[in-house]
Amino acid sequence: MDGGLKERIDGVRTRIADAALRSGRDASEVRLIAVSKTHPAETVREAIAAGVAVFGENKVQEADVKIPEIGRGDAKWHLIGHLQKNKARRAVQIFDVIHSVDSIELAERLERICGEEGRAELPVLIQVDLAGEETKSGIAEDGLGVLIDYLRKCERLKLIGLMILPPFYDDAEATRPYFKKLCEIRDRVLPGGELSMGMSHDFEVAIEEGATMVRVGTAIFGERQI
Ligand SMILES: *Cc1c(COP(=O)(O)O)cnc(C)c1O
Repeated sequence: MDGGLKERIDGVRTRIADAALRSGRDASEVRLIAVSKTHPAETVREAIAAGVAVFGENKVQEADVKIPEIGRGDAKWHLIGHLQKNKARRAVQIFDVIHSVDSIELAERLERICGEEGRAELPVLIQVDLAGEETKSGIAEDGLGVLIDYLRKCERLKLIGLMILPPFYDDAEATRPYFKKLCEIRDRVLPGGELSMGMSHDFEVAIEEGATMVRVGTAIFGERQI
């Protein structure tokens, strides 16, 4: 990739601001989550120095090494990937926000563990699956109402929004209908809630459709390390 990390971060911020402006929104309504999965702590520190305050990780196991190394004072950590039951406790211990709650069973477990761990508040988003993809996590639209009702009754889990990871299309425009639909659902079931949607290749489209959190990895950090 051309240029340094700082240039790429500034470039993404400019594109976020432009997309917000185009759609009559204020750029401050859109938060950048820098997806640091596969990238080392050293790179994350560089991003912090360049002004990034929120990072996304998709695996508890990887984050379990990285987060303690960097600490939680200078950055907030969002879990954006599928959460396995046996990783729930560690997730509660190390993450600030969880984007991937997609079942009552998982919500129950997180609520219970928050109690056991003395965590008073855990902001969560519900991951919604609008494409019926077997291989992906996320709750179907018809199960959403029951899960929302459950989360509203939780003492410690705080439902703050909806998240989507749509099918991948080379053409970013092809994901627009999913973003639009999630925004409509949000307006209906969780007015004013966060919308976590948009990745490196389609975050501008997501912002045009109402995203309040964009999860951007490659456009900031370059290709993923393995
Ligand atoms: C990896 C990942 C991203 C970021 O993807 P890029 O294409 O690298 O921007 C966003 N959301 C989720 C859930 C991810 O797993």
